[in-house]
Amino acid sequence: MEHQNVLSAFGERQFNTLVQSGTNNSPKQTKIVAGEGIPIEKEIGLKNRAKRKMLTQKICLKLIDVSEAKQNERSKKSFWNTYHCQNKLVKANGRIYGDFCKNRFCTLCSSIRKAAIINTYLTEILDWDNPYFVTLTCKSCPAKSLKNRVTQMLRGFRIILDRNKKRNQRGTGIKLVGLKALECNFNPIRKTYNPHFHIIVANKEMADLLVEQWCSLLTSKFATKAAQNATEIWDKEKALIEIVKYSSKIFTDPEMKKRGKSGQNPQVYAAALHNIIEAFRGHRVFDRFGFNTSKKSTKEPKYIELSDYENLTYSMEDFDWVFSGNDKKLTNYMPAAKTLDILSNNIDTFNE
Ligand SMILES: [Zn+2]
Repeated sequence: MEHQNVLSAFGERQFNTLVQSGTNNSPKQTKIVAGEGIPIEKEIGLKNRAKRKMLTQKICLKLIDVSEAKQNERSKKSFWNTYHCQNKLVKANGRIYGDFCKNRFCTLCSSIRKAAIINTYLTEILDWDNPYFVTLTCKSCPAKSLKNRVTQMLRGFRIILDRNKKRNQRGTGIKLVGLKALECNFNPIRKTYNPHFHIIVANKEMADLLVEQWCSLLTSKFATKAAQNATEIWDKEKALIEIVKYSSKIFTDPEMKKRGKSGQNPQVYAAALHNIIEAFRGHRVFDRFGFNTSKKSTKEPKYIELSDYENLTYSMEDFDWVFSGNDKKLTNYMPAAKTLDILSNNIDTFNE
């Protein structure tokens, strides 16, 4: 391939190849795309994707403002990457292809990651006889202590796992088996952060043991028994979806009502979200412990060469991807007035 022109438009690779056959010797462009794409007939999926794209872009612009105010070039760069996530799409063979930023806070990428996690772990959980849902919390802290607090919580959890593993090897205890997700809530009234774990363990004995050892390790200064929770799981699939869902929450109820009884005006606390993203950086937000997966969780990306394709570019004004060469839209998604109102008026970059 001598006439090769590699363009790096958001990771897409574009090749000019000379067509060997036929009467026409002009170069015909082909395009290499990664992944399997998504079938275009799944219109609801596409509309959801358009909604996530809109949310991600609007929130990213605010997060970029926060990064600038905090003079954090690294986070600013990663928010710009996410802002551009899936800006360019390719339509071919009835499917849509695009490149992902793979950032944790990107709602486009995290929806795909969540589906992969559920796919990987559901079969394991279905095998557990009597799984329990455990919430391990720690005393709330101000923004300046958050990074340190998160590191210490992860270290504390590791100590408990190692201790029980050793006891199990000596034949004096059980090994802990489960999944854990790290989440952090922001309390806009008190301006504090509450990092905590959502955990699924294989049985009640493990759940009780975790709560007991967590409280004793952290001492009553940081963790009281009343603040921890362990409940039996009735619907295993729902429990898994719940803990996967928690790890990337963007909207906060400003009145701090209980989950499910959300107030009328959800807020995005962009500066607080920035603090949480920074505190989680470099840590695993979702992880398994005590078992290995039978399935391989990460597949090598597959590359396909396309010769007949259409290019699309995201247009923020249209809330949609628009085909190059004509003004046809891909999803015809129209955001609800309330969603637009929240995104225009309810993103707070001040409180943290
Ligand atoms: Zn992304």
